[in-house]
Amino acid sequence: MSLKENLDRIRERIIAASLRAGRDPAEIKLVAVSKTIPVEVIKEALTLGVTSLGENRVQEFLIKQPVLDRDIEWHFIGHLQTNKVKKIIDKVSLIHSLDRWPLAEAISRAACEAGIVARALIQVNVAGEATKYGLSPAEAEDFARDAAALPGLEPCGLMTIAPECDDPEDTRYVFRQTADLARALKKSVQGIKMDILSMGMTGDFEVALEEGSNVLRLGTALFGRRY
Ligand SMILES: *Cc1c(COP(=O)(O)O)cnc(C)c1O
Repeated sequence: MSLKENLDRIRERIIAASLRAGRDPAEIKLVAVSKTIPVEVIKEALTLGVTSLGENRVQEFLIKQPVLDRDIEWHFIGHLQTNKVKKIIDKVSLIHSLDRWPLAEAISRAACEAGIVARALIQVNVAGEATKYGLSPAEAEDFARDAAALPGLEPCGLMTIAPECDDPEDTRYVFRQTADLARALKKSVQGIKMDILSMGMTGDFEVALEEGSNVLRLGTALFGRRY
């Protein structure tokens, strides 16, 4: 399948899932996960109307970012080392992977130095998988309150990665609990924004969308198997 066919198919599936869920497909953002994908292939995706790209490694991001279009909206979706925050802070639109307190402090510091407000999503690990980063739902409220109080850092919502399952229905509870948590935080943490739910990858994005996701992070569905 060509990139164009893949993208058309993704768009059809987003529309169909939105209709099923009684949602407006226009409110669903597609972040094309371009990790490991060569710049030439990414450029083709951009000509097809992709506007947001997600990378998970600082090194790779810093190589690709300068050679690609200036008005790409960049999303940082991977585990981020505190000593690398400075390198990306003013180059990304959203950090999806705020997963621990020292990172919140590092983002705050770097953003203040750069004179910007950095937007970030709190990553939650609903299934409690030892192999995944993120806060437990129980830790999220105190974390969100403290993070929202830091200068230069604006928490905007939640991100989660569901366990790999053969049947995406098995991950529905993860997305539902994340959406519930976002609603609870919005109520309990004064002034916090919880507008963004980054949930859903190639294997489970329709279920995530049905449960309230408005940012889908898709790699394989668009680019095929990674290099
Ligand atoms: C790689 C990656 C994705 C994309 O995964 P696919 O299954 O290829 O769509 C999404 N989110 C994160 C955090 C990733 O690292």
